Amino acid sequence: MKEVTLACEAFQKLLEEQLRRIANMNSEKVDFSAKETVTIGIIDGDGIGPMIMAHAVKVLETLLDREISAGSIVLKRIEGLTIENRLALGQSVPSDTLAQIKTCDVLLKGPTTTPMGGKMESANVTLRRELDLYANCRPVSIPEKNIDWMFYRENTEGEYVLGSRGVELPGMAVDFKVTTDLGTRRIARAAFEYAKNNGKTRVSIVTKANIMKKTDGKFTTIAHEVAKDYPDVTVDDWYIDIMTANLVNEAIRDQFQVVLLPNLYGDIITDEAAQIQGGVGTAGSANIGDRYAMFEAIHGSAPRLIEEGLAAYANPASILKATAMLLRHICRADAAERLEKALDSCKLTVDIGKATGAEYAEAILGAL
Ligand code: NAD
Repeated sequence: MKEVTLACEAFQKLLEEQLRRIANMNSEKVDFSAKETVTIGIIDGDGIGPMIMAHAVKVLETLLDREISAGSIVLKRIEGLTIENRLALGQSVPSDTLAQIKTCDVLLKGPTTTPMGGKMESANVTLRRELDLYANCRPVSIPEKNIDWMFYRENTEGEYVLGSRGVELPGMAVDFKVTTDLGTRRIARAAFEYAKNNGKTRVSIVTKANIMKKTDGKFTTIAHEVAKDYPDVTVDDWYIDIMTANLVNEAIRDQFQVVLLPNLYGDIITDEAAQIQGGVGTAGSANIGDRYAMFEAIHGSAPRLIEEGLAAYANPASILKATAMLLRHICRADAAERLEKALDSCKLTVDIGKATGAEYAEAILGAL
């Protein structure tokens, strides 16, 4: 059958690409403490992106004003990553935009819309692949409930990254999922290193290895191999279904510390965790690679907020938390701490009848 042959050819191409990806995986980590100039790319994104990004840029300019004047920090505006431009060019990340992005060290990025269906890949999937941003770190903290979670989500593999590479045959659609030794080893290493360096005593590995035997099975096996290098850290395994329940189980949820997961499960469960914290508008996210890193809100472009005329209530806390993570990543710990303290002490709630996003951002700037 011609369609089967075409599907097999598509699968072969995909396997060859993945093998090339593995071959190029190793790179050296950047030492930001020794770098003379750090270039921060500023990408507005779509929907509520430009609104919340405007607040984040003001905060960065305030915290880093002396370094910006001295030229040791450069804020570089990157244009072209709008849904209109991407659709017009038929590229998830236009080539000239990508070239600009690659001149930066780190990125602060607003959310980008991904059209449902069709062929267009998510801009995030493209950027994570092109910049090899393999660790998606998403903290969730609720001190009054003794919750302090850090999710380490693999960011370059799984079904998530091959989501636009499926094949269709008459009456049938097939997607693919990939898990590699090197890819799993490096995200597991990142999670255990985080635990070791931050006084955490437990890493929970979350998969669906009972069902996805090859891919999630590999993820679990390799994560346990890496764990052997961290004898002071307790390791436990959970399946993703019960883990979603665990996060709302008040009897045990405060015992979780670092959670290590493949891509799609990490994507889903971190929205749940963010909701427990106060909503996706309160959660930041870091996409870390060895060479590049990209910081953003956990959420999307919130088209419904725009359609309902409620964009003024887009919460900038998410992107401001990501901004603090960016500052830590580039070894500006004092600036990060100032921002974290301002965020922790802000008592405003962004919501109708309470505060707008702009009022919240003004309060943060005032506290700085
Ligand atoms: P969404 O995250 O944009 O919105 C989910 C819900 O959260 C909505 O009710 C929205 O109003 C609310 N919300 C989001 N951000 C908020 C904020 N800062 N303050 C207050 N409320 C907020 O998810 P969606 O509607 O499923 O996706 C919209 C688009 O965003 C899609 O095209 C999707 O692909 C894209 N997306 C992009 C990213 C990214 O760029 N990192 C992440 C997720 C989704």
